[in-house]
Amino acid sequence: MLVIHRILTAAVALLPLTTGTTAAPERAPEPQGVFRPYGAIAAELRQVAAEHPDIAKVESIGRTVQGRDILAVKVTRAAATTPDGARPGTLYLGAQHAREWITVEMVRRLLDRFVTGYGSDPQTTALVNSTELWFLPVANPDGYDYTFSGAPGARLWRKNLRDNNGDGTIGTGDGVDLNRNAGFRWGWDDEGSSPDPARDTYRGPAPDSEPETVALNAFERRVKPRESVNFHAAAETLMYGPGWQSTTGAPDDVMYRALAGDATGSAVPGSTATRLSDYATSNGDSAGQAINVDGVPMVVDEMASCYTAADSDPADAWSPDDCGSEFEFPDDERLIAAEYRRNLPFALSVAASAADPARPVSVLHRSAPAFTPHPFTTSAAGSGPQTVAVVARKSLGTPVVRYTINGGPVRSASTSPWPGGRVYGGTDNLYYDEYRGRVTGARAGDRVEVWFSASGQDSSHFTYAVTAAPAGDTLVLAAAGSTELTGSLAAAGHPGAQVWDVAARGAPDPLGVLAHYENVLWAVGDQAADTATTLAVRDFANEGGTVLKAGAAAADDDSTGFTRYWLGVDSSFTGTGATAFTGTGALAGTGGPVTGPPAAATLFDAISDTLPAARYPQFATRPAGTYTGLAGPLEPVAGSGMAAVRAADHEYARLTRTVDLTGVTAAQRPELTFALSYDTVGRNAVMFEAHTPGHDDWTTLPDALGATSSDAPPGCDSLLTRHPFLTHYLSLTPDGDDCAPTGSTGTWAGLAGESGGWHRTALDLSRYAGTKVEVSITYVSDVTLLGTGVLADDARLEIGGKPASSTGFETDLGPFAAAGPPPGSAGNTTAWAQSAALRRSAAALTTAYGAVLGFDPAALPADRRAPLLARLLR
Ligand SMILES: [Zn+2]
Repeated sequence: MLVIHRILTAAVALLPLTTGTTAAPERAPEPQGVFRPYGAIAAELRQVAAEHPDIAKVESIGRTVQGRDILAVKVTRAAATTPDGARPGTLYLGAQHAREWITVEMVRRLLDRFVTGYGSDPQTTALVNSTELWFLPVANPDGYDYTFSGAPGARLWRKNLRDNNGDGTIGTGDGVDLNRNAGFRWGWDDEGSSPDPARDTYRGPAPDSEPETVALNAFERRVKPRESVNFHAAAETLMYGPGWQSTTGAPDDVMYRALAGDATGSAVPGSTATRLSDYATSNGDSAGQAINVDGVPMVVDEMASCYTAADSDPADAWSPDDCGSEFEFPDDERLIAAEYRRNLPFALSVAASAADPARPVSVLHRSAPAFTPHPFTTSAAGSGPQTVAVVARKSLGTPVVRYTINGGPVRSASTSPWPGGRVYGGTDNLYYDEYRGRVTGARAGDRVEVWFSASGQDSSHFTYAVTAAPAGDTLVLAAAGSTELTGSLAAAGHPGAQVWDVAARGAPDPLGVLAHYENVLWAVGDQAADTATTLAVRDFANEGGTVLKAGAAAADDDSTGFTRYWLGVDSSFTGTGATAFTGTGALAGTGGPVTGPPAAATLFDAISDTLPAARYPQFATRPAGTYTGLAGPLEPVAGSGMAAVRAADHEYARLTRTVDLTGVTAAQRPELTFALSYDTVGRNAVMFEAHTPGHDDWTTLPDALGATSSDAPPGCDSLLTRHPFLTHYLSLTPDGDDCAPTGSTGTWAGLAGESGGWHRTALDLSRYAGTKVEVSITYVSDVTLLGTGVLADDARLEIGGKPASSTGFETDLGPFAAAGPPPGSAGNTTAWAQSAALRRSAAALTTAYGAVLGFDPAALPADRRAPLLARLLR
């Protein structure tokens, strides 16, 4: 081990690039041809094996979609006659992603180092004699070759060459991401992989659908390497651990932290070391599969980007401007060699660790601790048992828990491996595992000191104070010390609830505190929850606890994915005006007026609307309530119907009504009011057109409540070309790329962008008193970038301050009609129509883990809280 450390340190010393003194040339640097297609790489692999028959052999681990052999070289003493897998193995894997050329150079240079150094370099010789090293420089040969084809866009191809649409050519919509196609947690959600064949992270039609995936997995299971590095580019990150759920660790993280590092230090200088789940989520990825199905530890080494390499030496020919993208590493031997050297010490340390992965050889000079206890300071066990946990090296055997109560005699109890909870745990535990035992015999007021022992070794100690056991089954987690809900909980059949003031006490420990309750009522109010508390509550839910998260800010903190994937919130909308809550679904029959402070309340869109429960049962979410007075931006603000036009390109869609004001005077201030919600990002606008029937006196009306603007709509010049009728209200400025808010017959007032929910709009019709006027709510568009459309509801005509008519759009458009485009515009593809919700939002959602409620239950009258809470808690 000492020998290896010395050589690794020597390799680090090679890192600084020699810098020249010449000025940077003005012309783009010439590619040197270092990167080569698969044919040349494959020929080299066969040649290496032929030239070193004593220590190397080449084999095909399988074939690609297009029939190419996926070649790997094994290097070990007597390679041909020693059975594969006979010695502790290390796998170096490159180019799962076609465009990441630098990874191929990494793996083939490692191979070259081992075959040429054998017999002369002591470290190399020792590793070849005692372990076996597998070099698989191109895991995706078809895709890799395609990136050399020169076809449009081919250089940045990532996936394999599966012809998804069967049209005989490769293009957008083809290919499967080989790093999302494996079976472990395949397709868990659509964030860590995509169901869309056009996306770079397309996971394929089924787990292990691709021959390249099958080949790699079969190889891993057959040879069972003890270590592996999956080289990628260009995030400059070393990653390990579970990837499928955000902010999630696992027992083996202990050894990866020694091998690869963490936030305090990285085994590849210049790169960041982190848990996969802290970087981004991925499912069906090769690391999860290797570890949890094939039994092979794997670290992902994301190598340098083109920009970093091109910027590394200001005096050389390369500058970041020469990079077509982060993946197009400079085709320059000196920079490629420097990047290889930067990653080399880590790569060698992985091979050196194969003999005993649990105790890795660390370029950071770290050791993986045999024990990592889970400490806490407070136990709510009372005189009952308290569960304690430790992550321990499996080779030491199952640890025992030892403890003293108030400094008394040492007692012992057995532990057993924690199998995991309802969603996570019990994985990524090849060499370390979490063990749990129970401390008994303590009482409230005692202090208990705890440690763990195995094979004659002891862990560090921790001490906790025992408080009285909970008098009830429910803990109220509150930002401030509110006790308002405990009485309601008693009335709901959950007496003795206690309050944990998060602001004062921090996150409650899942084992010391939360495990002693059945329910957590988490009243967040209008403050987003902190991550530590969210993770503690997630652990609680994972182990069977029921969570009710309530408050206007209930969806405001989702860095961990808890609110999304456990409580079912796909998106949320916070607004004011809710006057009552009516339970539906699991809460049918509950509810009441929402009183209390000028309360914002929140509506939720269920994740099952996006990830249907039939395909994603793990996220099954049901709506459980509505508000009176607050509706989601895409559902009727009153009743169950509304008028709606969906966003589309090149629209000029009118919702038109003729108002007869012949017997009305201006002093009676006739007014048309309605609720409006719009969401129309792009070159488009919403306006309120008016003219006297039969006359060309068109103008737009401003919103008497002030929402409209006389600013010309975005892309006005283009809108005018598409819809020349707009010259009634708008005119091009002399320079031709802006608009003035006046036109041939009228002036401009309009809306653009997003309304952020429903707002009341009022049009003053006084100027049409004594005659008739045709009024339109008009959606006009050139190109729509995003957005859903324009919605109107609850239209009222008021004369003299009194309602003359009202329209709820419950079953039809009433006195309104949908009208097509004016002369000069092309035809519409959508139109105003009576509609139900475009998307239905809910004031509460329920899932297998509990519920989320968009307001504080304390805002309900006291007698209405208990029935609601009784339904939500176990
Ligand atoms: Zn990659």
